[in-house]
Amino acid sequence: MSKLDAKIPVGPIDKKWTDHKNHVNLVNPANKRSIDVIIVGTGLAGGSAAASLAEMGYNVKAFCFQDSPRRAHSIAAQGGINAAKNYQNDGDSTYRLFYDTVKGGDYRSREANVYRLAEVSAAIIDQCVAQGVPFAREYGGMLDNRSFGGVQVQRTFYAKGQTGQQLLLGAYSAMSRQIGKGKIKMYNRHEMMDLVIVDGKARGIIARNLITGEIERHSAHAVVIASGGYGNVFFLSTNAMGSNTSAAWKVHKKGAYFANPCFTQIHPTCIPVSGDHQSKLTLMSESLRNDGRIWVPAKLEDAKAIREGKKKPTELAEADRDYFLERRYPAFGNLVPRDVASRAAKERCDAGFGVNKTGEAVYLDFAASFERYGKEQALIHGHDAKDKALVLKLGKAVVEAKYGNLFQMYEKIIDQNPYETPMMIYPAVHYTMGGVWVDYNLMTTIPGCYATGEANFSDHGANRLGASALMQGLADGYFVLPYTIGDYLAGDIRTGEISTDLPEFEAAEKDVKDRLNFFINNKGTKSVDHFHRRLGKVMWDKVGMARNATGLNEAIAEIRQIRDEFWKDVRVPGELNEFNQELEKAGRVADFLELGELFAVDALQREESCGGHFREEHQTPEGEALRDDKNFAYVAAWEYTGNPGEAKLHKEELKYENIEMKQRSYK
Ligand SMILES: Cc1cc2nc3c(=O)[nH]c(=O)nc-3n(C[C@H](O)[C@H](O)[C@H](O)COP(=O)(O)OP(=O)(O)OC[C@H]3O[C@@H](n4cnc5c(N)ncnc54)[C@H](O)[C@@H]3O)c2cc1C
Repeated sequence: MSKLDAKIPVGPIDKKWTDHKNHVNLVNPANKRSIDVIIVGTGLAGGSAAASLAEMGYNVKAFCFQDSPRRAHSIAAQGGINAAKNYQNDGDSTYRLFYDTVKGGDYRSREANVYRLAEVSAAIIDQCVAQGVPFAREYGGMLDNRSFGGVQVQRTFYAKGQTGQQLLLGAYSAMSRQIGKGKIKMYNRHEMMDLVIVDGKARGIIARNLITGEIERHSAHAVVIASGGYGNVFFLSTNAMGSNTSAAWKVHKKGAYFANPCFTQIHPTCIPVSGDHQSKLTLMSESLRNDGRIWVPAKLEDAKAIREGKKKPTELAEADRDYFLERRYPAFGNLVPRDVASRAAKERCDAGFGVNKTGEAVYLDFAASFERYGKEQALIHGHDAKDKALVLKLGKAVVEAKYGNLFQMYEKIIDQNPYETPMMIYPAVHYTMGGVWVDYNLMTTIPGCYATGEANFSDHGANRLGASALMQGLADGYFVLPYTIGDYLAGDIRTGEISTDLPEFEAAEKDVKDRLNFFINNKGTKSVDHFHRRLGKVMWDKVGMARNATGLNEAIAEIRQIRDEFWKDVRVPGELNEFNQELEKAGRVADFLELGELFAVDALQREESCGGHFREEHQTPEGEALRDDKNFAYVAAWEYTGNPGEAKLHKEELKYENIEMKQRSYK
């Protein structure tokens, strides 16, 4: 059997998952008590998996590098989570969510996985409501929904601008119950440093206690990697500062294939970069595109005057504004998918219409919504709908109720009041669709090693739509892994505890210690951040929103150069056996420097444009992404061969049997 067998069950697409669940091996309750599972990461993907597996009876050891699972990057998710519940009676269904997600992924995702995701989506909402997650509700008490880009129904469930936080509190409370019962042993402030493989199977990890520096061995019958995404390879991204690729990269180097590394999502509505001092970018939720209109001045002289501070955006008449998304994509308007909105903003800024000092910003304007909501409120309450001041006041109050925390965040960062002047936004790296390759059971190419959430290459293909990541992470943790992991663990009911004295643990621990010692003793001259910033600049300039062969080849050479310099000249202050965040960063940046090269190699071999991957050589005359289904309808799964630039490509051919492949259009 090929190593890249995705193990997709046979049968009609809507029966595959049910049928699979009916036939997988089971582990009986008594046997579960003698099986250990390690979960690396306790964000939404890992937290939900840890809680579920422990509830089922397995002994779970869960790891996170923060001081609490509550601080995983999942907490940052603002906009919402998709589910095909059709509460709005707008024609939604499992099939439509499946269809929209496959189309949104530009036909580069696995049909069977996406269908399952759509199928379990409704149960996620029920599960979270049962945990007490305070989703927004309508006046009558029903759960409310928003629209997100690239779809024509309202299926996004949300909790103000804090959906991720509320969902994470739900998962954390489910975990806490199991921590209290002793079924989950929680290792906060611990970082997985390597995977341990015994007889070809994942049997444990080497972890570092980040407070004391102690190196620890932990064994289990299976290891789940739920360590999040790798957007920080760009240095500047909307990800949390600590988000990293190291756990995923370590399993890749031990034999797990890494899939579609170049599929990255650039989010159109982020606060623009303001200068070299920054180490983090801030997202303004996609939900704002429900009510905000995106525009730039229609005339170059107005754009210039605005940049020079000689004109204000509010002084420009309607006729002098270019609502470029509404103009180019009338059917979806401001709610086109993220890649389309991002490239359209870049195109206008590259053409000289940018509105901030750097020329890299467009407006997101709520004036029309203030008026629309204000008039509605005036009519409802019997006020004069022609009273402009009153209408504005009432409209602002409605917008504040919906997005108040986002407006406040914007004002704190930019020091401008977005109720009085339009917000300025620009695209930024946000989410990585690529990741560790997994089969239908979420198992990597290493037996017993699983990957879930953003860490796996997942179900999103080339262009994840908004509000799908939370859905996928929670689907994996609450509803998929709990079934599929048992199929594998059923073979381990007689294995007994795995000893950490095995030579494989010793060898892995030695490698980890050698690398840490190297960093502390290298005594170079440049900080870790110095190298990370340089890597990020190459990635953004040459492997970012638009890529071409020349730039990618240059990027590969430059990344190698930076990596060489890093190993010669990096300086890590502090000691080994103490809380040393520079040491933590050094290990993570070393891995980013390898991943960055594979990322560029992957982008170079994919001679087409699809969703989040835009090759300038492959576009329509109108500048839209041009796919090549004949040659590139596959998942690119890379096998590590000792050097990131020389990884071996394996192709998982994608078959579309339930959806016709079309060139994607949102016009
Ligand atoms: C600003 C922002 C807003 C977003 N909004 C939305 C939204 O509205 N809707 C949506 O669907 N998606 C959204 N996303 C995407 C979504 O939030 C993420 O994809 C998702 O939360 C990832 O969850 P996760 O559990 O896979 O990873 P994370 O939440 O990143 O968790 C990773 C876990 O792994 C641990 N970890 C990592 N490495 C190691 C290691 N080596 N050792 C031990 N532990 C480790 C961390 O401590 C953490 O516990 C947003 C993303 C961003 C950046």
